[in-house]
Amino acid sequence: MEEEKKSLLGCTLAELRDVVSQMGMPAFTAKQLMEWIYKKRVSSIDAMTNISKAHKEVLSQHFILGVVPPEERLESVDGTVKYLFRIREGQYVEAVFIPSIGEDSNEERATLCISSQVGCKMHCRFCMTGRQGFSANLTAGEILNQIVAIPESERLTNVVLMGMGEPMDNLDEVLKALSLMTSADGFAWSPKRVTVSTVGIKNTLRRFLKESECHLAISLHASSPAMRAEMMPAERAFSMTEIIRELREFDFSHQRRLSFEYILFAGVNDTPADVRRLVRLLDGLHCRINLIRFHRIPDADFEGVDDERMIAFRDRLTQAGLFTTIRASRGEDVMAACGMLSTMKKKK
Ligand code: SF4
Repeated sequence: MEEEKKSLLGCTLAELRDVVSQMGMPAFTAKQLMEWIYKKRVSSIDAMTNISKAHKEVLSQHFILGVVPPEERLESVDGTVKYLFRIREGQYVEAVFIPSIGEDSNEERATLCISSQVGCKMHCRFCMTGRQGFSANLTAGEILNQIVAIPESERLTNVVLMGMGEPMDNLDEVLKALSLMTSADGFAWSPKRVTVSTVGIKNTLRRFLKESECHLAISLHASSPAMRAEMMPAERAFSMTEIIRELREFDFSHQRRLSFEYILFAGVNDTPADVRRLVRLLDGLHCRINLIRFHRIPDADFEGVDDERMIAFRDRLTQAGLFTTIRASRGEDVMAACGMLSTMKKKK
């Protein structure tokens, strides 16, 4: 059987040092490879012009670059673009490009929402990916490919890991991808450009906060553990009260931003009592709340709220001293909005 070639995209400098040493190439080739992969972002090994023809041939016998273009592109009326990537036979993920104007300034932002798993094990009741179930973890290279293989790649100002999957359930590969995004010999991005969203998985949050400086978003969606357990089975394994207790041990007042995502469900979590509970829960924590509109998915037994109720909820939280924003809904017509990603139809 023919050996499956590994991807160079996703390799760290240490891994590339091993590769070049095993192949009898000079040690400095590892640095050159990093430069071609992450800085110059070439599309083939052949395009690495300062590496000798002989070395490129040896490399190509065992490796591919690993940049794989998306198979489908769907553009929303609002300019949001949903991309479909094939991971392997019968396994696909989606990534969503969202051009916008920044909240705090008039600067243009270009955000890419990427996936970390094919499907997801968390089964949140309001999410299409959760219904799909879990198929596979993405490698660091497959996570980074969503960034480098789209035409808007060079324009990106921000990346959010809020697509398909639970990043903390694939933490080794996610941390590796984050490190390649932010390290000097990778993309050299500021960690402030990257946000990782999680429901909170026991024994991973602390590791993420210690090993990465990227922003953190917690999917909260409820003002009490009982309410959250109804919507998110993950609450039973690692409760929001434990999550918040752990978060209090870290400092979010400087570089790193902590936010809580809160989808508003009519008659479920949108009352003045919810505001009071949230204020007590987050008291003294340096954070913000992002209110998100519920995007209806087939057979959902939840309803979203209208804009008026959303604004009133935001105002109550703001008056109580919690910095709260409403996230603009984008890409709903192409099923690219929050909670709508699914590649189930592509499964064999
Ligand atoms: S909301 Fe996130 S964690 Fe929950 S099922 Fe969907 S993808 Fe998984």
